[in-house]
Amino acid sequence: MRPPAPARVLMYHGVDHVSRERDPHGMFVTPANFRAQMEQLLEAGFVPVTEAAYLAALGGARLPRKAVLVTFDDGYQGVGEHAAPILESLGIPSVLYVLADLLGGRADWLGDRLGYPLLSAGEVQGLRTQGMAIGAHGLDHADLTAVDDAELRRQTRETRAALTELLGADVSTFAFPYGAHDRRAREAVAAAGYRAAFSVHRPAGRFGIQRVDVNATDTLRTLRVKLHGLYPAARRTSRHVPRARRLVHDLLGSAYDAPEPAPAGAGDPLEVNRS
Ligand SMILES: [Zn+2]
Repeated sequence: MRPPAPARVLMYHGVDHVSRERDPHGMFVTPANFRAQMEQLLEAGFVPVTEAAYLAALGGARLPRKAVLVTFDDGYQGVGEHAAPILESLGIPSVLYVLADLLGGRADWLGDRLGYPLLSAGEVQGLRTQGMAIGAHGLDHADLTAVDDAELRRQTRETRAALTELLGADVSTFAFPYGAHDRRAREAVAAAGYRAAFSVHRPAGRFGIQRVDVNATDTLRTLRVKLHGLYPAARRTSRHVPRARRLVHDLLGSAYDAPEPAPAGAGDPLEVNRS
């Protein structure tokens, strides 16, 4: 199958100073590291693109060879406070995936250790005005592979309707909570009117586009490895081939297998990421 992704897609979560005790899954990159990573992207010749350009490329439009799309999952407050000004100063567009029922709430789906505040509806509107694209991450971070048909429709359609109303504009893309998707979930996202959806490791066409996970343990070196065009294939192969797993692990160190919280009942933790 021809890879559906016309560009590398980076997946961030939070950008802030959060202790590893509160953030055992390493989802928060410090503002200084985030700035260094974005500067490295530009210095290495990567060309950050908008969500609209990415979608056009899915339809066949051409993108620069080193095009990259920067995304954030969950809608953490620090993305507005720390990441947005850095992105703006460097002229880097991005997409923010928010939870329609948890705007202004707290991240509670990983247990109560984090409890980190989420951007409010007004803050999300403000970020959109500043140029950040807003995408959907469901209503409340439910695992879409574990809900019934009615709930699946709610998590996709109602989320899109609520965000469209909030923003006064179309919401075009979806990011699967935990990166978890199956055929049913992908079909629900397509039926709800989204034009593409992002997962993490398991590619499945335009409604299951894989992304490169960047987390607290990444250094400029490991990010460089992850941005290599062959990384996604190496990462996939490494799940099945021990020798490849060792090689990728040697290259990435702890950034390879940062602990990944999975929804209850999830199988392979590499398939179901925390997105
Ligand atoms: Zn998430």
